Amino acid sequence: MNQGIPIARIAGIRISAHWSVLVIGAILAWGVAVGVIPPAAPGTPALVAWLVGAGAALLLITSLTAHELAHSLMARQRGVAVEGITLWVFGGVSHIKGDWGSARTEIVVAVAGPATTFVLAGLFYAIAAVLDAVGAPALAVVVAWWLAMVNVTLLVFNIVPAFPLDGGRILRGILWARRGDRASATTSAAVGGRVFAFFLMAAGVIDFLLVSDIGGIWLVFIGWFLETASRAEVQGETVRHVLEGVTVSDVMSSNPVVVPGWITVELLVEQYAMRYHFTTFPIHDIAGRIEGLVTLRGMKRVPGPQRSRVPAADIAMPLAQIPTAAPTDLLTDLLPKLGPQSDGRALVFDGDQLVGIVSPSDVARRMQVAELRSEPPRAAA
Ligand SMILES: [Zn+2]
Repeated sequence: MNQGIPIARIAGIRISAHWSVLVIGAILAWGVAVGVIPPAAPGTPALVAWLVGAGAALLLITSLTAHELAHSLMARQRGVAVEGITLWVFGGVSHIKGDWGSARTEIVVAVAGPATTFVLAGLFYAIAAVLDAVGAPALAVVVAWWLAMVNVTLLVFNIVPAFPLDGGRILRGILWARRGDRASATTSAAVGGRVFAFFLMAAGVIDFLLVSDIGGIWLVFIGWFLETASRAEVQGETVRHVLEGVTVSDVMSSNPVVVPGWITVELLVEQYAMRYHFTTFPIHDIAGRIEGLVTLRGMKRVPGPQRSRVPAADIAMPLAQIPTAAPTDLLTDLLPKLGPQSDGRALVFDGDQLVGIVSPSDVARRMQVAELRSEPPRAAA
């Protein structure tokens, strides 16, 4: 999922919407207009029911935003970097960029969301009760009541100890605090995530087969999404654990062979690719400045007959596209920046001096070496 289009900024936190939030908005509006209003307020004109349904959907999405905002604000207050919030088909996601730092921080950040949902559920319940007591129209009462009920459902769903849902994060935080070992806490908490994910998928399939209810498909999707998220968290944790304290200079290939950008691809292949074991060559301009990076793959893409005419600079990835790092930077900070735009590579500069290249094979090698030793490269704190 990309980050979506920015729609608001609240207390300095950027809130964006992915197009798929329209899907959940439409389903909610439809559910209220067709399923909730007619039985409670018979005779409501369809147009009014749909308008009220849309308003209720908007209020619910606002509730989800408040939930995420609580996570994000608490994270920021505890010194964890927050990129923003994205609203999408499964509700909201807070993009937490920084590391949790401590079990306590993870617990309080995880608790903040469900606590907000709890308050909202109580608030909507009180509004419904007051509206009912003063004899307000059934239409208003049922909408407030529906908002309270959906928030209660979300609350229950959120506090199931299924990592990485909020309840699972609270569980991991507690295990982490008790054992003093974040990696083992993650592995344990992830079991809850996978069990709940398979339960949701199985319930969804049974529901679909027995009742042929669309809601069943929805459960399967949520289960599948949870299972994927849980697995990704465990993988991320393994990488973090194994690479803890490893710096860019620990893994980089030093003293890369820098090539003049104006030589032909043919010369590049004969004089450099054949002679050195590198798969990547930085190129420099006439003034000696690094201007990009050529890869063996890029050379292969130039058809044989054209290699004597095309200059190396023409097949290079421009510098702006390539992530850079300093030798003392942590590898775990660089990893998220490596992507297909640079073929998974980064250039390492000490000041303005190019001192190395990091490639996917360098990282993979380091991971394997770390796994060979039974303990992480530098003991986890
Ligand atoms: Zn949450």
